[in-house]
Amino acid sequence: MFVLEFKVKPKPIQIQAIDEAIRTSQFVRNKVLRYWMDNRGVGKTELFRYNTRLRKEFKFVDDLNSHACQTAVERVLRAINKFFDNCKRQIPGKKGYPKFKKNTRSVEYKVSGWKLSESRKHIIFTDQKNIGRLKLIGTRDLLFLQIEQIKRVRILKRSDGYYIQFSVKLDPRDTVKPLIPSQKAVGIDVGLKHFYADSQGNLEPIPQFYRKGEKQLNRANRQKSHKYDSNKKKAKLPQSKNYHKARLRYALKHLRVSRQREEWLKTVALRLIQSNDLVAYEDLNVSDIVRNRHLAKSISDAAWSTFRRWLEYFGYKYGKVTVAVPAHYTSQKCSSCGQKVPKTLSTRTHICFSCGYVEDRDINAAINILRLGLSTVGQTGSQAWGEGTATLVGAILSGQVSSANQESSFL
Ligand SMILES: [Zn+2]
Repeated sequence: MFVLEFKVKPKPIQIQAIDEAIRTSQFVRNKVLRYWMDNRGVGKTELFRYNTRLRKEFKFVDDLNSHACQTAVERVLRAINKFFDNCKRQIPGKKGYPKFKKNTRSVEYKVSGWKLSESRKHIIFTDQKNIGRLKLIGTRDLLFLQIEQIKRVRILKRSDGYYIQFSVKLDPRDTVKPLIPSQKAVGIDVGLKHFYADSQGNLEPIPQFYRKGEKQLNRANRQKSHKYDSNKKKAKLPQSKNYHKARLRYALKHLRVSRQREEWLKTVALRLIQSNDLVAYEDLNVSDIVRNRHLAKSISDAAWSTFRRWLEYFGYKYGKVTVAVPAHYTSQKCSSCGQKVPKTLSTRTHICFSCGYVEDRDINAAINILRLGLSTVGQTGSQAWGEGTATLVGAILSGQVSSANQESSFL
């Protein structure tokens, strides 16, 4: 799936209608969740049946397109499945028991309840929520699509306005010319001092705006909390105008900073994919990064997963190999001789006592990651070097055994 996003500028009356549609979808979600909590063991079918009942019972639910109500039920199902999955896998800590939503920011339609204008520059919502016609603002063109390719339409509310997202069934490979192979492979190690170090000896710095954005965000956040009055909260009184102004300032700043970051991460990922045929990186998941405090300080978990997502996306799009390797001892091992060279986090240089190899700590790790990546991808094809064929190939390659043995000591 591919997401195309447009900005829209609804009139005040349309904003009311959109907010009403979002509230309805949240109502359905929370009601269905409540029903699941109160009726142990009910499954998918019962939840969808309950949704139908809600539509009969409440006119405002019936006013929302039936598929849009279904997607609200699907959201609950996803949350429930995730919770069960976490329990089954016995992940430590909280299992993510589904929660009620208070601030839903979107409503999702499927293939009905909306249509595009002839020029495909406008979308018209046709259900009883009366959102009506909205002009799609953006540089992307919908004309090249078949309407059947659009599987979902989402109306999304952000602090700077409203957006329409189209989930499109489209293979990104179809829209791109393949790149000329670069004849290069690279391993990257996400670091503390820089965004990453690569096996080719480059260090990618964390840009100035990254830290600057952090400072600005912290300041805006402080201003927001200064204006927050907990006594008012206790007395259930609304917060002051100035608080809401500060809150909006913070939200807008947040949006600007995160867009700027995403743009940068995207550029870096694209550059890596364009100039290499294989990119290897550590398979760090969010909890690894959160646990590893020095990484958490360097880049946020969100930045890393965004970066990885773009890397894998561009890899797929341009037909390059991306490979995630298990994060074990990549910084401790000597990339030249394989000897384990223990070091603390403050040791910035890898100095091997065994073979004398000296390299930046993170570049050494990146070389290990590349090597792991290459061996993970392995050999494909009919003559694969596997158990069944080892003797056969081994006989033919006997002349090279000595060099092969030498190499294996490196691995
Ligand atoms: Zn060594």
